[in-house]
Amino acid sequence: MPSDTLGRPLRNLRISVTDRCNMRCRYCMPEAEYVWLPRESILTFEELDRLTGIFASLGIRKIRLTGGEPLLRHDLASLVRRLARHQDIQDIALTTNGILLARAAEALHAAGLRRVTVSLDTLRPERMVAFARSARHGDVLEGIAAAKAAGFASVKLNTVLIRGYNDDELLDLLEFARATGAEIRFIEYMDVGGATQWDMGKVVPQREILDAVAARHGQVTPLREHDWAPAERFSLEDGTVFGVIASTTAPFCRTCDRARLTADGTLLLCLYGENGLDMRELLRLGASDEEIAGRIGGVWSARADRGAEARAALADRGVLHQIASLRADPRREMHTRGG
Ligand code: SAM
Ligand code: SF4
Ligand code: SF4
Repeated sequence: MPSDTLGRPLRNLRISVTDRCNMRCRYCMPEAEYVWLPRESILTFEELDRLTGIFASLGIRKIRLTGGEPLLRHDLASLVRRLARHQDIQDIALTTNGILLARAAEALHAAGLRRVTVSLDTLRPERMVAFARSARHGDVLEGIAAAKAAGFASVKLNTVLIRGYNDDELLDLLEFARATGAEIRFIEYMDVGGATQWDMGKVVPQREILDAVAARHGQVTPLREHDWAPAERFSLEDGTVFGVIASTTAPFCRTCDRARLTADGTLLLCLYGENGLDMRELLRLGASDEEIAGRIGGVWSARADRGAEARAALADRGVLHQIASLRADPRREMHTRGG
C-alpha cells in the first residue's frame, strides 16, 4: 500500500464519469461554450470496473462518483452494481446536482450506492435560473426527497456560498437541511479550474459562516474528529450537525488521501494537479493489472501535492486558469476532473 512523500495513504478515489452537465453553475461552468472530451475517450464501465479492482489492491476503500453531472451517464446504477462487487471497496458515494435523482434513486440504492450528496445552493428557483441556468429547482428538491425515501445511509447537501449571491440564505439552507434530515456542508468558493470569475472578495470564509450560525443558534461546538474527511463538522445545541469545507481559507492538504480520475482516464493526485497519469492509454494498449498497479503506486509514492495550501500562500491570488488555458486542456476544468 503506497504512502506519498508526506505519509498520506491512497484510500479515496473520485471518479468523474462524464464531463457533460445539465447545469451551468457560475462558479464551475460560467462560459457560453465548452470544449468537450471526445466520446470515445470516456472510460467505459468495463474499464472503470477493472481499474477499481487495481485501485482496491493498492488500498482504495472509498469511491465517489462525480462529474460533470454523473446522472447524465446512461445507466449509472449498473456501474455502481459492478463496483459494489469489489469486496475491498467499503463505500460508494455519489455527488449530483439532483436534477435527475428522483427517477434514479431507488435503482442506485438497490445497486449498492450507500451515500448521496446533492448540491443545493439556493432555495429560490429564480436564483437557480440566474446563477446556474437551470429552471429545474423543483426536480432537485424532488431528488432530495427521493433519496431520503430510498433509504440511503447518508444524504448530504453541498452548498457553495458566494458573497452577493446566496450568502443571505445560509441560515435558511441550514434550516432546510435540518427539516429534511440531511447534513449540510457549506463550501468555500474555490479558485479551481473552471472558476474563471473567482475572486477572494466573493469567498465567504469559514469564520464568517460560524459566526452567522452562532448569532442565530447560540453555541456552535466543533466535533473534533481528526479524520481524513475534508469537512470540519460542528453541532448545535439542538443536536443539528453541519459541516464547513474551508478549502480556500484553511486548506487540509496534509490529510488528503484522495486521488481523482478524469472522465477520460487521467489520474490526478490533486484537485489543482497539472499533470496526470494516462490510465486510458495503459488500459487500451494492453498493460497488465500488475503493470498498471506499479505505475499508480509509483506516482503516488512520489506525490508531494498540496495544491490548496500552495494557493493560500500566494500573496496576490487571482483565478487559477484563464479561459484560453482551459480550452487548451479541458482536463483542467472542475467538471472534467470531478469535484
Ligand atoms: N454536478 C455534480 C454536482 O454539482 O454536485 C457533481 C460535480 S460538481 C463539480 C461537485 C461539487 O463541486 C459540487 O458540490 C459543486 O458545488 C462543487 N464545486 C464546483 N465548483 C466549485 C468551486 N469553484 N468552488 C467550490 N466548490 C465547487
Ligand atoms: Fe454545477 Fe456540478 Fe454542473 Fe459544475 S458539474 S456546473 S457544479 S452541476
Ligand atoms: Fe488534496 Fe490537492 Fe485538495 Fe490539497 S488541494 S486537499 S492536496 S486535492
